[in-house]
Amino acid sequence: MSLVEASDLLRGALLGLSKSDLVRTTIERAPVSRDVVARYVPGTTVADAVQATAELRATNRLATLDYLGEDTTERAQAEHTRDTYVALLDALARADLSQYAAAEVSLKLSALGQYLPKDGDAIALDLAREICTAAERAGTTVTLDMEDHTTTDRTLATLHALREDFPWVGAVLQSYLHRTEADCRDLATAGSRVRLCKGAYKEPASVAYQDGDDVDLSYVRCLKVLMAGDGYPMVASHDPRLVDIAAALAGHHGRAPDSYEFQMLLGIRMNEQKRIADRGHQMRVYVPFGEDWYGYLVRRMAERPANVQFFLRSLATNG
Ligand SMILES: Cc1cc2nc3c(=O)[nH]c(=O)nc-3n(C[C@H](O)[C@H](O)[C@H](O)COP(=O)(O)OP(=O)(O)OC[C@H]3O[C@@H](n4cnc5c(N)ncnc54)[C@H](O)[C@@H]3O)c2cc1C
Repeated sequence: MSLVEASDLLRGALLGLSKSDLVRTTIERAPVSRDVVARYVPGTTVADAVQATAELRATNRLATLDYLGEDTTERAQAEHTRDTYVALLDALARADLSQYAAAEVSLKLSALGQYLPKDGDAIALDLAREICTAAERAGTTVTLDMEDHTTTDRTLATLHALREDFPWVGAVLQSYLHRTEADCRDLATAGSRVRLCKGAYKEPASVAYQDGDDVDLSYVRCLKVLMAGDGYPMVASHDPRLVDIAAALAGHHGRAPDSYEFQMLLGIRMNEQKRIADRGHQMRVYVPFGEDWYGYLVRRMAERPANVQFFLRSLATNG
């Protein structure tokens, strides 16, 4: 078995294992988990999120904040998520961090009730609208995260509905999906904010490229479409080759520095984030916060087997 196959196998196993309640409880309760989580998640409260944003601003980085939570099964949970986002946006405005979208928010529609058995999409849309109203008041924007492929069409439909009133709402597209180059063409229009990432879920070969090189090639094709288009590309990747290609394409198309941006996750390649910002590019950092960090952490682990080894070693010595 090649290294690539072994690593794909480990990634699939991890994402599959993450559905086990026993594994979840063991990891959530392990004392060392908090230390490992702290690298990626700055805390559980709105105040923690605001503090992390202020620290990023001090080094010239922008932020997009995500209140962690997915697979919401009760309407009250979805409403709590809405309330937290509204409180966050108000707090960012009070701290003078949100104007001109210096700090914006990222939403998962599943956290807003998309999977609720009755009227899930309508509930998520209504709650997202309320968050958009708070974002408008704070002088900033909202981006809809993209989840697994079964939700892509529904998420894009919600995007279009929200953009009727809030044209600055952005969406995420994932280069591992076969459909994404066409979606990029549809969304590369004036005022349209599109975050391009590789994709973090375990997807079947019927809809997604399975080989890392194919995902990267697709990413470059999508980048070409977005950079040549009239929209606002958000290049979300830690991959140095893709960051270089994106910068070259932006130059080739004569894009002004404020007409696109780079994005990375908190805790990953932090020095490179600062270097990119220092070179005069806009650099936005995705900052997740909240108690419900488990699903997020597993996806970060699955991206990089070395992270799993680090975590297991810590569990063995401190757990
Ligand atoms: C701002 C932002 C928003 C995102 N939103 C979504 C979304 O809505 N939906 C979705 O499916 N996915 C989302 N993702 C995740 C994305 O799809 C990838 O899973 C993730 O970014 C890793 O891909 P990569 O492009 O960095 O390339 P990779 O090839 O995975 O990584 C390139 C290099 O980055 C470093 N690196 C990458 N991941 C890690 C890690 N976990 N720990 C340590 N080092 C690492 C390593 O040096 C690695 O060699 C988002 C990513 C970012 C940056």
